[in-house]
Amino acid sequence: MVQERRQSVKQYNRNRVFRFIAARKRVSKQEIATELGLSLPTTTQNLNSLREEGLITENGTFESQVGRKARAVSIVPGFRVAVGLDITPHHISLVLADLNGDIIDHLRKSFTIASDEASYLALRDDIEAFIRKNQIRPEQILGMGISIPGIIAFDHETIVEADTLPVPNHFCRIMQKYFSFPCRILNDASCAGVAEFWRNDYENQTIVYLLLSNTVGGAILINGAPYAGMTNRSGEFGHMTIVPDGRHCSCGRYGCAEAYCSALVLSSHTDNNLETFFRELDNGNREFKDLVDRYLENLAILINNVNLSLDCPVVLGGYMGAYLKRYLDRIRRLVRERCTFVTDGLYVQPCACEFEAAALGAAISYIEEFIKNI
Ligand SMILES: [Zn+2]
Repeated sequence: MVQERRQSVKQYNRNRVFRFIAARKRVSKQEIATELGLSLPTTTQNLNSLREEGLITENGTFESQVGRKARAVSIVPGFRVAVGLDITPHHISLVLADLNGDIIDHLRKSFTIASDEASYLALRDDIEAFIRKNQIRPEQILGMGISIPGIIAFDHETIVEADTLPVPNHFCRIMQKYFSFPCRILNDASCAGVAEFWRNDYENQTIVYLLLSNTVGGAILINGAPYAGMTNRSGEFGHMTIVPDGRHCSCGRYGCAEAYCSALVLSSHTDNNLETFFRELDNGNREFKDLVDRYLENLAILINNVNLSLDCPVVLGGYMGAYLKRYLDRIRRLVRERCTFVTDGLYVQPCACEFEAAALGAAISYIEEFIKNI
């Protein structure tokens, strides 16, 4: 028992030392000891073991006026990497992320996945080529997280429901057969929320991440971990009714938030190209201005409902995330006007992770797990 406890304290300290170095990027032994409240011999012991394993490295010296210059240490970000794959009905995105959660490389291409082996093999070839191009050794890869717009079982292997993708429920196991590293399948909004949490400083907070892409999803993140609910489908804000018997939704029902707040509501007017939509808007298109006005009013209904339920920051992400930044003040005013209670609306937050958030979050699920066990 005592032995076990000593072991766990040792592991705990080693983990803290690694995380501290990762957070600070470049740090001296003295700083680690002082800030983490560890003795110098304990710090040295931890640094030696992390260095021997290849997890950290010396990184020059710090300038000092007196005495010897202190040596700096940093983590080796590429010691292990993870792959993130985001699949949407007509595209795939791949990212390769290091231990800092930084994107080493990414690829986005048109790809309409079908339910046949030729399609799976074509996907496998793309993934293999992407890994090969980056000269990553198989043993460096912690795993591949696959993000999809759908409900996933608690085993992270079985798809329960993914109406917009024609893949079988055991799709993850098909992928697992192709690769020597592990694969898991995850909900896209949860992945994007995890990436957002990683990028932004939401420590010890609960946040809601709203995924406003061609579908509308969401994730409730409690201190960085998605809240699963009873059946692993919490945060499906896109299918909350905001207009009874309103517009037809992709789910087959009527009046869901997705039918009013998805990126398609705007981009469908410009051949599904959001960039073109906003360019034409900036060029003075009156019709587009009215569309945006109505979009923002509907979005405010959704955001207010979410905030009334959970009373926490609501981050606006997905494809729309980057475009909504310019409307932040207006959205905050709209939710202020709609809310029953006094609020400054500052709980509405722009996203920090604009780029490939879902694919990155899928990769981060493996990075987080690895760091937890260092
Ligand atoms: Zn719906």
